[in-house]
Amino acid sequence: MSRGLTSAARAALLAQVQDIYARLAQRPIERQCTSLSQCCRFRLTGRTPFLTRGEALLARQASRSSGKKRPPPAPDGACPLLAPDGRCSIYASRPFACRTHFCEAAGGPYSRKEVRDLIHELEAIDHQLGGSGGMGLPAALKWATEQSS
Ligand code: SF4
Repeated sequence: MSRGLTSAARAALLAQVQDIYARLAQRPIERQCTSLSQCCRFRLTGRTPFLTRGEALLARQASRSSGKKRPPPAPDGACPLLAPDGRCSIYASRPFACRTHFCEAAGGPYSRKEVRDLIHELEAIDHQLGGSGGMGLPAALKWATEQSS
């Protein structure tokens, strides 16, 4: 693990990421996600969520808890965490971008000013984990997997 963090320190950082997600959910920003899962199909949308390191570790942890050793790349260019039933396999731990970059049908993306403070907190955690900014989801998952192998 980067910067010699103990497992307790790392767990505390991941708890902070979860707390950021919880505080985001409490904000009165109206969106109506109907689980179309179009935003999980990166080739279709041409957009890939970016994850900070804390988010990547949390997503990897959730994926492992759901029984996946290493999510394989999806041949259709979809998110490797998208389950065959079309649902996110780590919904409760899905990354920040998956919570804020809603499709137009759901009401469009959050404006940065609505969530800037939380983004800064995620970036600060990223920095403590030795990161220097977000990575595309597939690369972030690969990095997180390497940390635990
Ligand atoms: S992590 Fe979940 S919500 Fe985000 S793109 Fe992947 S399947 Fe979709």
